[in-house]
Amino acid sequence: MNTEPILKVAVNVPLSRQFDYLPPVGVPAPEPGCRVLVPFGRQRQIGLVLAHADHSTLSRTKIRRVLSVLDEAPLLSDADLWLISLTSDYYHHPIGEVVAAALPALLRQGKALHPLSEHVAIADSAESVDIDALAKRAPRQAELLELLRDAGGGGMDVGSLSEHMPNWRRAARTLFGKGLIARYSAPADPPESPLLAVAQTGPELNGDQQAALATIRAGRGFAAYLLDGVTGSGKTEVYLHLISDALNRDKQVLVLVPEIGLTPQLVSRLRTRLSIEPALLHSALSDIARLAAWRLARSGEAKLIVGTRSAIFTPMSNAGLIIVDEEHDHSFKQQEGLRYSARDLAIARAKHLDIPVVLGSATPTLELLHHCRNGRYRRLVLPRRAGGAKPPRVSLIDLSRVPASDGLSEPLAAAIERHLESGGQALIFLNRRGFAPTLICTMCGHVAECRRCDARMTVHARQRQLRCHHCGTQRALDQCCTLCGSAVKPLGEGTERLEDVLQRRFPDRRVARIDSDSTQRKGAIDAALALATHGESDILVGTQMLSKGHHFPKLTLVGVINADQGLFGTDFRSDERMAQLIVQVAGRAGREERSGEVLIQTAFPAHPFWRRLIEGGYALVSAEALAEREATSWPPFCRLALIRSAAHRRSDAHAFLEVARKRIEMHGASTLQVLGPVDAPMARKAGRYRAQLLLQSRDRKALHAVLHELRPNLETDRAARKVRWSIDVDPIELF
Ligand code: ADP
Ligand code: ZN
Ligand code: ZN
Repeated sequence: MNTEPILKVAVNVPLSRQFDYLPPVGVPAPEPGCRVLVPFGRQRQIGLVLAHADHSTLSRTKIRRVLSVLDEAPLLSDADLWLISLTSDYYHHPIGEVVAAALPALLRQGKALHPLSEHVAIADSAESVDIDALAKRAPRQAELLELLRDAGGGGMDVGSLSEHMPNWRRAARTLFGKGLIARYSAPADPPESPLLAVAQTGPELNGDQQAALATIRAGRGFAAYLLDGVTGSGKTEVYLHLISDALNRDKQVLVLVPEIGLTPQLVSRLRTRLSIEPALLHSALSDIARLAAWRLARSGEAKLIVGTRSAIFTPMSNAGLIIVDEEHDHSFKQQEGLRYSARDLAIARAKHLDIPVVLGSATPTLELLHHCRNGRYRRLVLPRRAGGAKPPRVSLIDLSRVPASDGLSEPLAAAIERHLESGGQALIFLNRRGFAPTLICTMCGHVAECRRCDARMTVHARQRQLRCHHCGTQRALDQCCTLCGSAVKPLGEGTERLEDVLQRRFPDRRVARIDSDSTQRKGAIDAALALATHGESDILVGTQMLSKGHHFPKLTLVGVINADQGLFGTDFRSDERMAQLIVQVAGRAGREERSGEVLIQTAFPAHPFWRRLIEGGYALVSAEALAEREATSWPPFCRLALIRSAAHRRSDAHAFLEVARKRIEMHGASTLQVLGPVDAPMARKAGRYRAQLLLQSRDRKALHAVLHELRPNLETDRAARKVRWSIDVDPIELF
């Protein structure tokens, strides 16, 4: 009898299956959670052992052996592997690709968990060197010697050396030659943590906060809480107490945030209030730093882990609490490759670990509100702003009565003036970057369009360019019409134009634009937000970047330039999304003593959406939207999955989806509706034609059973060779 286990291995290839291998001869079989190097076709691949099994569909003599085992101990625990296979099953995505998404790049590439890095240190023989004398002949060598002498016997790793002295390698070559310095390999230095001051104490919690806290504290094991608190109601204070509780019990806490770059305030607040250096996991980290943070989380040394979407996969040996801040934010859903929702996985993970998960928002998604109503989650409400700040007054400016030259109406301009006069600050919100969304011919009406997309080119006046916001194509701004040669002009406005308009209207005031164009340089966003926070800019103009959790103490006026795009949206989520955006941006106004005002420009002031929003706020908009969704059987009253395809020929994109449709009809449950294939709302993007098939069902299990059967069949279908395709479970955008 053969007692050798068969290893079920995940390999990073786009196939929905595991691969069978035998352990290498003469060594113990690697445990699940260890990486292995395996022969794969004619190549070698790094795989992850998922499980041991007794049986294989192949005969043992046909199964190939693992070439080598890369980890002595499992990198991932059973709970971590559970999350990976859940993600693969639920999102119908190949498990090897899920593993790849869950591991830091260096581990994916086969590097060691504790990678060695190159160090340079001063040699004993350098003691006798007269550095001052050397400095006269060879200043760079002297500088390097001095640096290394100060660093002491351990020397420095090459990374920090390059930071201190970018051109050190030339000088080092001569010094190596003379034997004055030496190199060696050692584990990379852990990132230096700054010395932390004693934790500052926070405000005393008000009654609502205390009640929310008491409810969560009274819970045992898994529970999902929606902390539904208006902007500035003190949700973060509640998190701080919960985190502190968990840390006192020596448990780890994972905090998921939309974008760390946009929430420097949260991170610094965690630092000062808890006197702990959080391990940060976000997209701007170097590979080494990411691995270091991942390792500390895995070992349990990092007590507090703060990260964006992908941090949901961070292993934790001793997790006690998960927090998802701004649960409604779309960045929690990955929109390409592995299309997962970090928020939903956070809930699933907490349940599996039997720990609480707290989801906070001033504008909760209808999904969460629905689950609170049906009793699956608990809703905790903070209805008032903390610390005495009052909610902002919201009113409309009717653009059908007052004109708006270049986007800015006179009443809004007058309000800006008034608020600035009395020492306030204004935020003008327009969710459209660039100078103008359209370049039009004054004679023939021709509009500049992208050659690769069914879309208009946006005018970027500063760079004198036309850019497509869908595929990234850019070209020089047309001087005249490409059809008739007449003069062209930009039509409509984006943030760039609005910045000019405001600066012209208020020449003595400081206008600052904050959008993804103005903040591309490293550090630019922090600098711009710091200026805004310290009240050094008078008028802020920007996109939804400005709507995220910021606290600008002096800000008293929020103006919304063009709110009408969302009123007649085609997506069933339009209302929810627009209400979230407006309530979030409005929530920046009047967060301290001075009360805030919100002015919204609209050409349709009679639209029922506005009455709901102004009279009942987000609570009323969301309640009515939920009723509508129930009546029309849209999520959360049904489940959706979207199959997308894109190809150079439209017919290929459709043909693939026809194959999918036929298969579904063959095996599909009667509880399933299949809509399409149809062209995507933007039928051509980046040179490819796009089509989609929507699956809708009230029965989640039936929907998943169909997808489970479908996926491997599509992977190997001939029609798939001509298209790029994907399955999106619980899509948040229907295109
Ligand atoms: P949210 O996370 O809901 O936006 P924060 O926790 O950031 O709210 O609180 C908003 C502001 O109110 C912060 O300046 C915070 O220090 C203050 N604050 C919060 N709770 C209280 C309280 N109980 N008493 C006084 N001030 C408070
Ligand atoms: Zn023309
Ligand atoms: Zn384009």
